Amino acid sequence: MVAAPIGVGKCSRPRRPKRSYNGDRGGRMKLLIIEDEAKTASFLKRGFSEAGFVVSVAFDGVDGMRQIQTGAFDLIVLDIMLPGMDGWHVLTWLRGAGLQTPVLILTARDEVPDRVKGLELGADDYLVKPFAFSELLARVRTILRRPPVREATTLRVADLELDMDGHRATRAGQRLDLTGREFTLLSLLVRRAGEVLTRTLIAESVWDMNFSGDTNVVDVNLRRLRSKLDDPFSRKLLRTVRGVGYVLENPDRA
Ligand code: CA
Repeated sequence: MVAAPIGVGKCSRPRRPKRSYNGDRGGRMKLLIIEDEAKTASFLKRGFSEAGFVVSVAFDGVDGMRQIQTGAFDLIVLDIMLPGMDGWHVLTWLRGAGLQTPVLILTARDEVPDRVKGLELGADDYLVKPFAFSELLARVRTILRRPPVREATTLRVADLELDMDGHRATRAGQRLDLTGREFTLLSLLVRRAGEVLTRTLIAESVWDMNFSGDTNVVDVNLRRLRSKLDDPFSRKLLRTVRGVGYVLENPDRA
């Protein structure tokens, strides 16, 4: 079962990238719209262009990620239901890569768990289709007006706290003695808490390598992590999903 990472919280909002103003766009804010419906995309592009923004469009998640890597955007308008890679994955990848570009989710999905999931994954705002362009524009301007804030973040699941700056992990205030690799592994699990992560995904994210089947290294490292993270405590956060992978979750909410 894949659940929204309800238990993850940030104690402060991450810092926005410094807005770069280059000469040829005359200080205009640069937006990326990731939207697969051609009509909506062109409507948004026209609206934001008329409002003075420089607008790029990506019609799927993969192209969106490519454009994010190559262009400095001030804000991303992100659709969720996209072909290939959906908006949740784009957002998870974006924040996992440490990019703090503001994201406004624009989607037809209006269930509360979806809104919560979007905000928990690090979106700055959430607007449900159909929408009035004037409201979207107002929300975008509001996000862009927010002052930059400190980068220091603490991620939390139940009594586990990860200090991302100090690379320190604690449970119930008790310091966990983790290696650098274990901390990276734990950050991945915490960032995507509630989501079952496959061995392959873990291997590729943490060891930065393409695994062609032998993911034993993942099991060995997770066993070691578990001995520090869970063994000394009665509440277990890390769960093995047989035949699939691992999930870190708040046992009180699971
Ligand atoms: Ca869509």
